[in-house]
Amino acid sequence: KVIEGEALRKKLHNTILELKGNIRVFCRVRPLLLDEGMEDETKPISFPTTTEALGRGIEVLHHGQTHPFMFDKVFMPQTTQEEVFEEVSQLVQSALDGYKVCIFAYGQTGSGKTHTMMGTPGSYDDKGLIPRSLEQIFEARQKLKEQGWKYEMQVSMLEIYNETIRDLLSANKCSTEGSANKQQYAIKHDANGTTYVSDLTIVDVRSSKEVSYLLNRAAQSRSVGKTQMNEQSSRSHFVFTLRIFGVNETLEQQVQGVLNLIDLAGSERLSKSGSTGDRLKETQAINRSLSSLSDVIFALAKKEEHIPYRNSKLTYLLQPCLGGDSKTLMVVNVSPAPSSVNESLCSLRFAARVNACEISIPRRQTSMRYMEPRLSYG
Ligand code: ADP
Ligand code: MG
Repeated sequence: KVIEGEALRKKLHNTILELKGNIRVFCRVRPLLLDEGMEDETKPISFPTTTEALGRGIEVLHHGQTHPFMFDKVFMPQTTQEEVFEEVSQLVQSALDGYKVCIFAYGQTGSGKTHTMMGTPGSYDDKGLIPRSLEQIFEARQKLKEQGWKYEMQVSMLEIYNETIRDLLSANKCSTEGSANKQQYAIKHDANGTTYVSDLTIVDVRSSKEVSYLLNRAAQSRSVGKTQMNEQSSRSHFVFTLRIFGVNETLEQQVQGVLNLIDLAGSERLSKSGSTGDRLKETQAINRSLSSLSDVIFALAKKEEHIPYRNSKLTYLLQPCLGGDSKTLMVVNVSPAPSSVNESLCSLRFAARVNACEISIPRRQTSMRYMEPRLSYG
């Protein structure tokens, strides 16, 4: 009986993966920072060690209640940048094979999104997903050259703030601030189904060094906005896009892949009642775009006919890279601090919604008893 149960559980797990298609959700808990919480304080976050939940489970203790969650992977605080990248490198590699890939970092401000995506500039060990991905891609390009593949790569970087696109590689920063030209940075889909943003700066790149230089430029451009616009960087989505065009004349093959790496705006709930004017507009824009993103991923996972891409700039921009045979990874960043427990729970619930595709399993075939463990295996 036990063996049967285990076999069934495995089978169901595989079915879930199939139904989920190319959507994966990872959770990463950062270490406690020096000024956060006391040693003897109750730790709100723990990691269950049962066979089923090992490396995939996380529990949040809130008001005396334990809230369990399961994801495709859970990274504990001591997980290094290198170990995180190991789990992502295949996905990155598939962009060279012509896949469209999106990797999102989601979480409240201070939960480790930028650390996960960018890392600490200048520190080798601390390099995040973006620099590591680029190094891997350019290294692989060199190897594929020997097999007759020629690749061209293009980079663009933009920020979406209050549903407005800002070009982070534009030489002329001033023109991007105002709304003098409404046609500027409009998202357009052409006949081939590719998306482009009008007037957006696109740079041909030949090495990961060149991209590093552009990343620095973009970071500077972002921080200019920051002083002007009230911590804009945590209130805006950062979208890094690498387009890959590969040709192999001997094999008469051609591939076009895209790698989108996205550092999302902070997901913290700002109380609507407390904020007014610009702040309220900002809050609404973030809430709307983050919930549109989860709606889109949810609809894709459920294989719904209508996917609501048009509800936000972010999802409309990424439309060709979300769905179809493209691949999506959501990394949900969580702070372990007792003071953040509310937000951590919110983030995990968001992630669980994106991850909760078992809903589409026909109920008559399987008892829901077996489905529940993925969300609440306690
Ligand atoms: P966010 O981008 O979500 O606002 P950050 O990436 O800026 O958050 O992280 C907040 C702070 O926590 C930073 O000081 C960062 O260096 C630190 N931090 C985040 N994740 C880690 C980690 N995995 N290991 C060590 N320090 C981290
Ligand atoms: Mg950040």
